[in-house]
This record gives sequence, structure tokens and C-alpha cells, in this order.
Amino acid sequence: MAIQFDKDLWNRLLRRTKKTAAGAAEAAKTGAAIMGQKAEESLACAKLRSTIRELKGEIDRELRAAGELVYATHKGNPSDSDALQAILERVDALNQDLSDAERELKIFKGTLFCDVCGAENAAINAYCQECGQPLRKR
Ligand SMILES: [Zn+2]
Repeated sequence: MAIQFDKDLWNRLLRRTKKTAAGAAEAAKTGAAIMGQKAEESLACAKLRSTIRELKGEIDRELRAAGELVYATHKGNPSDSDALQAILERVDALNQDLSDAERELKIFKGTLFCDVCGAENAAINAYCQECGQPLRKR
């Protein structure tokens, strides 16, 4: 017995298959875009972490140098106060860079900073937990 060929059924099946294939391709594209974005973000996070490590190391070295000048003074070998001042100013600048880098890393990880009061908020918050203003999602 010959198989009955149902043209309508065949066409419906074909349309559905096409739609599914297109949907799968679209989903794959979106997935790849998300993966690409994730990879870019994790690279940026890794760079920020290494910047933070370097800054902390530099701050440690500067503070140690400042400490040595203070200790030399204590030991009766007065150090140049301008030199100490210069070191402390470098530490101020490094600390500013450090807090900028740490803030940026937090933003990458989803922390929301309130535009109004600057408070840190969890990524799921819609309103600032400090001042109640709506939070702007990135
Ligand atoms: Zn706020």
C-alpha cells in the first residue's frame, strides 16, 4: 500500500521545522553574544584586579618609605619633611586610584551606586537602600 502523502501536513511540518531552526539559530547567536560579553567582562575584571593588586603594592612601598623617614627622625637623624610630604601626597593619589579601581570592579560585578547619594546597592535593588531614590540600571 502506498503511503498517503498529505501535502498540507507536510507543509505545516516544514514551516514548523523552519521556524524552530531559525529560533535555534537566533538563540545560539544571542548565547554567543552573551558569552562574548561575559568573556570581555571577565577580562576587564581580571585587569582591574591586577591594577588593584599593583596599587596596593605601591601604597605599601610608599608607606614603608614614609615609615623609614619617620623612624630615622626618631633615631636622631632628622629627615627632610618635604620628602615625607611628597611621599604622603603620592599615597593620597594612589589611594584615590585604588578606590576608583575598586568601585569600577564592583560595578562590573553588578553593584549599583546611587546617583543621588552615592550609596552602594545590591544589583537586585530597584531603589536606593539609603535615600530611596530609584536606581539606574546599567
Ligand atoms: Zn541613594
